[in-house]
Amino acid sequence: MKRPLLNRRLAPFGTTIFAEMSALATRTGAINLGQGFPDTDGPEEVREAAVRALRDGRGNQYPPGPGVPELRTAIADHQHERYGLAYDPDTEVLVTTGATEAIAASLLALVEPGDEVIALEPYYDSYAACIALAGGTRVPVTLRPREGAYVLDLDELRAAVTDRTRLILLNTPHNPTGTVLTRAELTAIAELAVERDLLVVTDEVYEHLVYDDTVHIPIASLPGMRERTVTIGSAGKTFSFTGWKVGWTTASPALTTAVRSAKQFLTYVSGGPFQYAVAEALRLPAAYFDGLRADLAAKRDLLSEGLAAAGFEVYRPAGTYFVTTDIRPLGTDDGFAFCRSLPERAGVVAIPNAVFYDDQEAGGPFVRFAFCKRKDVLQEAVERLGRLAR
Ligand SMILES: *Cc1c(COP(=O)(O)O)cnc(C)c1O
Repeated sequence: MKRPLLNRRLAPFGTTIFAEMSALATRTGAINLGQGFPDTDGPEEVREAAVRALRDGRGNQYPPGPGVPELRTAIADHQHERYGLAYDPDTEVLVTTGATEAIAASLLALVEPGDEVIALEPYYDSYAACIALAGGTRVPVTLRPREGAYVLDLDELRAAVTDRTRLILLNTPHNPTGTVLTRAELTAIAELAVERDLLVVTDEVYEHLVYDDTVHIPIASLPGMRERTVTIGSAGKTFSFTGWKVGWTTASPALTTAVRSAKQFLTYVSGGPFQYAVAEALRLPAAYFDGLRADLAAKRDLLSEGLAAAGFEVYRPAGTYFVTTDIRPLGTDDGFAFCRSLPERAGVVAIPNAVFYDDQEAGGPFVRFAFCKRKDVLQEAVERLGRLAR
């Protein structure tokens, strides 16, 4: 054969680390704190709503291209009630196959070959691949660890913008660092986007998972941003049904039409009955969202304290499912080797943050643990990790 099978846009990406680490967990019987999915399902009434939709024959055939009207209206109401953002459910809301498809469709629709896309590094693993599929060039702007948190250097961001920059791909609350961008940071990003006429695609799948007194602010709510922002949401993390893959975008009619042009040829539509269930889930009372936050905040504390006691330096997250640690106090700066040996040494699986970086040196000594697991599982993991300190 004259040339490799896999095209050169995808060839650099190989298989995701999650496959390797989950296989390692299975082989060794280690507790898997690698991949970010809950080990218990979401609310019973939401699951029942999906069963009801299936039985009643709602969504069993192709749903409408932009999503079922009940869900589009619920998404529009959610954005309005929480953030004061008014979107027309018919022209400004698009239901997608999880946030993953929303990210892919947005980049495929909005990026021309040769365009530069700025993404916060470390970045979620699908960003780099989707930018490459769209023919774009990724320009990472690295969040730097400083005084116990990861922070965005706004000067670095400004310096990254060139005449070829098409869009800024944001993620807040941020996976894997747990950073939640502040109003001041978002305002500076918004001013830059307006000044340089850039689009913003913002992945806000962890919008409900913010802790203590942290607030999530959608950048679309800032001056000049509504018409240049595609906001991405998902039911997976908010309702603990990551297998359902119901996500969405909210954006101006022109942006929504563009994203839909790509989306229609990816999956066309998906998840009919689940869309009805998510429409109900979005209308759950505040107590559900508060309860989820309180439960995860307690789990964050349990795992963070255990990791600190085991000798890790811990970056206490303000949001998301993840806690990032520095392994240098444990005598190594090689996150890959550390994660490959951790199942043998301590019976736990984690993810080396270097997989989320172009700059391998910047990511090298950091390791990510997921805390969206049952309390007894986290307690056992903390117990096992304690072996590292002995
Ligand atoms: C989990 C995750 C996604 C994927 O969301 P789906 O709705 O499951 O496709 C996207 N972005 C980030 C940052 C995530 O952590």
